[in-house]
Amino acid sequence: MKLFMQTAPFTVKKLRGLVYSDPVLKEVHKKYPFKITPHLAQIMESLDDPIGKQFIPSELELAEDGGMEDPLGEEHLSPVPHLVHRYPDRVLWLVTSRCAARCRFCTRKRLWKHRIVVTEENIVAVKDYIKTHPEVRDVLISGGDPLLLDEETLKRIIYALRSIDHVAILRIGTRLPISDPEQVTPSKIALLASHQPIYVNIHINHPQELSTPTKQILEAMASAGIPLGSQTVLLKGINDNDETLRELFLLLLKHRVRPYYLLQMDLMKGTTHFRTSISRGLEILQALRHRLSGLGIPHFVIDLPGGGGKIPLVPSAIVAVKEKEIIMKNRLGKLSAYPLEPGEKDKILKLLTHA
Ligand SMILES: *Cc1c(COP(=O)(O)O)cnc(C)c1O
Ligand code: SF4
Repeated sequence: MKLFMQTAPFTVKKLRGLVYSDPVLKEVHKKYPFKITPHLAQIMESLDDPIGKQFIPSELELAEDGGMEDPLGEEHLSPVPHLVHRYPDRVLWLVTSRCAARCRFCTRKRLWKHRIVVTEENIVAVKDYIKTHPEVRDVLISGGDPLLLDEETLKRIIYALRSIDHVAILRIGTRLPISDPEQVTPSKIALLASHQPIYVNIHINHPQELSTPTKQILEAMASAGIPLGSQTVLLKGINDNDETLRELFLLLLKHRVRPYYLLQMDLMKGTTHFRTSISRGLEILQALRHRLSGLGIPHFVIDLPGGGGKIPLVPSAIVAVKEKEIIMKNRLGKLSAYPLEPGEKDKILKLLTHA
């Protein structure tokens, strides 16, 4: 296809021209708008490199693949507009539907067109709701990309949450340090730094996303005392091998970002071409265990369809559970036993398998 013979350097204008001049991609764009930043265009080396694959529309997005519009059932778990309360102790607040660039595999594609803007009214409603729920300790601010909000709005959100005594922890999920590092301004960093603890979780999927300006932003945030974590979506043909992920997680550790989640793709409509099998994820995790310190290994999680929550999956080292001992196999294939207390066997089997 002519499109993929295009070579770097790219600009947003050139990429738009390419997408809009292709009749099929133009259809895709009408349904799920194409959006990319000058920074991402600049670090893209070809249209099907790890950056291009994540941001350039594909005709495969139009496939009727049996996927769902709201795979996590978030709309049903919303007591107040834009607030998702799925676990007792934490809530998720979607404060904007905007992102600097649009990932083609996005779980919240359904929100791309219906704009979420936090109004004063919404801030008050969320604050009142959390105030009457003292069990909520942790507020996850997400979207869209919260760091894309203007500083004034961001400040109002943080102040509102910090006025609630029982909310101990704030978290922000963002991709802006990758997609548009310039917009993570020193004053936004200072704002986050002065209301700690605010954990910033960065969505990053490939080592190529760690450009020099991105590394500088991570450095600035870490030096300001902001704890950094990451979440990575396991993506077919982009990062679904242990070599790429090992490099990514090592680089993240080097830049003081602790890998937190490796996410199995949700069953979102029109994203099947990005989805890997669960067994692939487990194989990768197994391989990483051998070659990367525990500090660099994220939880591999599936967000259950329909709002069941996140479930971590771990390759098992258990070979057998006996009356008096449990048998495990190490990475070299060597078997070892660890003694069990009397009557423990059934309890362990239940915890491990629910059988
Ligand atoms: C992921 C998620 C959270 C946060 O979960 P952790 O596993 O604690 O990171 C909270 N609420 C919702 C709805 C979520 O999807
Ligand atoms: S950064 Fe997140 S919310 Fe924004 S388009 Fe990408 S996956 Fe979707």
